[in-house]
Amino acid sequence: MAYKRILLKISGEQLAGKYEGGIDAELGAWLADEIKQVIESGVQLVIMVGGGNFARGAQLAGHGIRRVTADQIGMLGTMMNALALNDIFENKGLQSRCLSNIFAEQVAEPFIHRLAEKHLEKGRVVIVAGGIGRPYLTTDTAAVSLGLELSCDVVLKATKVDGVFDSDPASNPNAVKLDHLSGNEAVSNPNIKVMDKAALGMAAEHHLPIIVFDALKANNIYKAATGESVGTFIQS
Ligand code: UDP
Repeated sequence: MAYKRILLKISGEQLAGKYEGGIDAELGAWLADEIKQVIESGVQLVIMVGGGNFARGAQLAGHGIRRVTADQIGMLGTMMNALALNDIFENKGLQSRCLSNIFAEQVAEPFIHRLAEKHLEKGRVVIVAGGIGRPYLTTDTAAVSLGLELSCDVVLKATKVDGVFDSDPASNPNAVKLDHLSGNEAVSNPNIKVMDKAALGMAAEHHLPIIVFDALKANNIYKAATGESVGTFIQS
């Protein structure tokens, strides 16, 4: 069964693709084709983009840069990704809009709940820039918050590995993938670092399911959006 409305969280690191930082436009174009399938199947799509390919507040803060400023720089990083994706999507014939949660009227429409709803109902992809617009947060938490605000049925959290494992698959070749996980288990297990605990906690509290999966594998976004089993399903 396909979901009606989904939120896809993509990190900045993923958008950097084959590069160390910045944006891999070729990968963005590939992503546009993957997303086209989702939109054509009638699923509404909101995208929350990260900014870690440019800056992460927690890492940047220090030596005179205040945490609040560092987070603002991080949010501006998400803006660059959102603007680039929006252009790439349009160039590929996808209807898409970039809405910003930070004041940036010269470059993007402001995020207004009703406006976002309208775009989604018209089948446009809504790409949200600036996270949730406040410091001391990451785009993971912003993704869950936005997923709740826009009544999304599920949050798709794109990761490098295909789901949540019982130990780190990069260092342990015997790591076992977990198909299902309760929200409370995801919050309380210290080995589960796939997403911020604040994000997992908010999703658990409001019973918003999360699918942790490899979005850069062909057809995986479509599969997740249409209810096929991919990655790990976290539900409370
Ligand atoms: N950020 C913020 N508020 C938000 C979302 C993001 O302050 O609502 C800042 C924060 O500094 C974060 C940076 O923007 O580190 C980039 O986002 P994130 O680290 O989540 O990017 P990702 O790791 O997903 O690429």
